[in-house]
Amino acid sequence: MSAGILSRLPLLAKWSGRMIQIKTAHEIELMRASGLVTAGAIAAVKAAVRPGVSTGELDAIAEDHIRSQGAVPNFLGYHGFTGTICASINHEIVHGIPNPERRLAEGDNISIDCGAILQGWHSDSAVTVTVGEPSAEDAALLEVTERSMWAGLARAIAGGRLTDISHAVEETITAESHPYGIVDHYGGHGIGTEMHQDPHVLNYGRPGRGPKLVPGLTLAIEPMVTVGNPATVELDDGWTVITKDGSRAAHFEHTVAITPEGPWVLTAPDGGVAGLAPFGVAPRT
Ligand code: MG
Ligand code: MG
Repeated sequence: MSAGILSRLPLLAKWSGRMIQIKTAHEIELMRASGLVTAGAIAAVKAAVRPGVSTGELDAIAEDHIRSQGAVPNFLGYHGFTGTICASINHEIVHGIPNPERRLAEGDNISIDCGAILQGWHSDSAVTVTVGEPSAEDAALLEVTERSMWAGLARAIAGGRLTDISHAVEETITAESHPYGIVDHYGGHGIGTEMHQDPHVLNYGRPGRGPKLVPGLTLAIEPMVTVGNPATVELDDGWTVITKDGSRAAHFEHTVAITPEGPWVLTAPDGGVAGLAPFGVAPRT
């Protein structure tokens, strides 16, 4: 970390006694560079997903990519976490620990969650993919989870309120004929010079509440959706969060900046152009 970062006094906006870090346009450019490193790591891991590959091997691919870009993994060592990625399979929702003994099989769903620190700035993103051909049920689960994330990202607009994002995520999921569950003990977050900052971003709620969305606010939006009941259990490993009923889950995440020109999806290679288009929103690119 450079002396410049250490000596920097972040601009903070106060909300309900909590401080929210507001980034300058230049700092958002730095976060974009970090976001592209994370996007590259996720793309490299996705390309390696196949039957027989271990989550330990996928973890090494992500770490190699991040370090090759002059960045460092932000999950590794976080409260003692031993991986660069979280690899969460099927009924595991988030925070699965990479393991050289854990091998993927045809039909598994794996959430790959990954982040990087570049020049002191964090990024955080996740995708869920199926190994081989998804069942109709899995395809629908992944599609609605990803679409709910984009619906939330499309509300990352200056002038709105934080729960406009939460509400858009929820509305997308509850509009489905299948009664999907929305995991409620985990959610999105502010992100900047730390991976997890205020505010917490719920994946449900009434719109028009919470902190104002202002240029310079950067958030990770990450819906977690279950086919069955959304109640969760944490495994004895102290990390892995699973569905209590054993039903499958999906998880997608992007880091977004609110800018005067619209949302800028920092962990999407195209800045969010394709994902936001169905919502009639053009990102800053
Ligand atoms: Mg993440
Ligand atoms: Mg996150």
